[in-house]
Amino acid sequence: MHQLIWLRSDLRVQDNTALTAALQAGPTIALYLLSPQQWLEHDDAPCKVDFWLRNLGELSAELAALNVPLLVRRAPHWRDAPAVLAELCRELRIDCVQVNEEYGIHESQRDQAVAARLEQQGVQFRRHLDQLLFQPGSVLTQSGGYFQVYSQFRKVCYQRLHTALPPLLGTPPAQAPLDIASDAVPSAVEGFASPSESLRQLWPAGAAAASERLARFADEQLDAYHNQRDFPALPGTSQLAAYLAAGVLSPRQCLHAALRHNQGEFDSGSQGVITWINELLWREFYKHILVGYPRVSRHRAFRPETEALPWRHAPDELAAWQEGRTGIPLIDAAMRQLLATGWMHNRLRMVVAMFLTKNLLIDWREGERFFMRHLIDGDLAANNGGWQWSSSTGTDSVPYFRIFNPLSQSQKFDPDGRFIRHWVPELVGLNKRDIHNPAAPAATLGGGLFGLADYPRPIVDLARSRERALAAFKNLPQRE
Ligand code: FAD
Repeated sequence: MHQLIWLRSDLRVQDNTALTAALQAGPTIALYLLSPQQWLEHDDAPCKVDFWLRNLGELSAELAALNVPLLVRRAPHWRDAPAVLAELCRELRIDCVQVNEEYGIHESQRDQAVAARLEQQGVQFRRHLDQLLFQPGSVLTQSGGYFQVYSQFRKVCYQRLHTALPPLLGTPPAQAPLDIASDAVPSAVEGFASPSESLRQLWPAGAAAASERLARFADEQLDAYHNQRDFPALPGTSQLAAYLAAGVLSPRQCLHAALRHNQGEFDSGSQGVITWINELLWREFYKHILVGYPRVSRHRAFRPETEALPWRHAPDELAAWQEGRTGIPLIDAAMRQLLATGWMHNRLRMVVAMFLTKNLLIDWREGERFFMRHLIDGDLAANNGGWQWSSSTGTDSVPYFRIFNPLSQSQKFDPDGRFIRHWVPELVGLNKRDIHNPAAPAATLGGGLFGLADYPRPIVDLARSRERALAAFKNLPQRE
């Protein structure tokens, strides 16, 4: 009899809980399902699907070194998964399927259906905690509910980490060879266009590339993270989110690397380390929220009263935002960064999200979907959490009256306009005062006749649209 490790968002051999458990239990075969129909329904970005496939290719070689064959099968929609797994278990005489848990509502339903189907034929289905440091439902308030406030959640996480740090598992030893051939990993899947080579080069696949990125970040950037993380022209953040989302890297590996760099300390020493661990805990927080409040998985607002906001139907403005031609340089630079690289700096994610949902008063779900369709690190929990934070519809979100002004954000976080000049070449000739707001009279008069003809005027009046957003939120029926 065999074990089956069904790989999903855990594309690595090192520190992989389910893989280690399977190999300890018996001869192991690995499986990956291609589910393009489901991925389209989830708005998974083509560059992200490409990243999965590229990582799967690397993983196949690493599994081969452990004598674990990798099967790549099709289950176009997750509703097909139970039948595909049942058939495979019969064919290969599998008596246990091991998985690392995933937390979206569809993922949970899929796993329940697979477990029920396998049970009928006497095959066990074992789930493991792997994607998170703490099991959702194990970090609760005194009254037994899920935390809704991040700082309180974080406090409990820190207490737990102080007493018991989740250990690293390392790479499991190789098993005896099996007489089963691996399947080829496809280089593309229908419905998902291949991204440009330049985008691919930004995100090299494989655990070795991920570990190298983590090590370089820890050595060169981590200590300054708290000071530099808000400046998009600097390489101040790790750019590891895509690797974490695909499970090429585990949060435990990140946590251990950060602590090693800080002599094992959580709350003294490098401020950069502490701030970065806080970000890993935001990731944790939003996944717990997904489990505790399944409505967010269904794209419902965390704060139900905000469902009554009078979102505007403004397709032209939405398109201008999506294409980076709003006439607000920082917004346009950020959106162009997303389109070209599959990634956007965190500060800018907040700025463009707030601009869409407050200044344009366009439903956060439009932005959430667009991000998901373009982000290489697209993750339901973090993306939904970030959008609901920015639109003041979410848990522990920004108060509705604290609306970022994209021009002041631009002056503060891209003071020399370096980031803008890189992504909006139409403005390359403007000085560091005018580049933030080329439509200002001083910029248009003061010889700033650069390529203004090529660059749009702002599509919205920031002051008036701010008032419109404030009024919309003020007029909401109050919660009892
Ligand atoms: P670093 O600053 O190096 O942070 C380290 C890791 O911590 C990240 O890789 C990520 O895994 C995690 N992290 C950091 N900030 C957050 C956060 N606010 N919430 C949750 N996890 C966090 N993150 C995603 O991983 N996927 C998304 O789809 C996503 N969508 C977002 C949408 C909006 C509107 C906003 C405001 C934020 C979103 N984030 C998302 C969070 C954050 O912007 C990214 O995780 C971060 O920019 C990734 O870059 P990095 O790896 O260099 O992060």
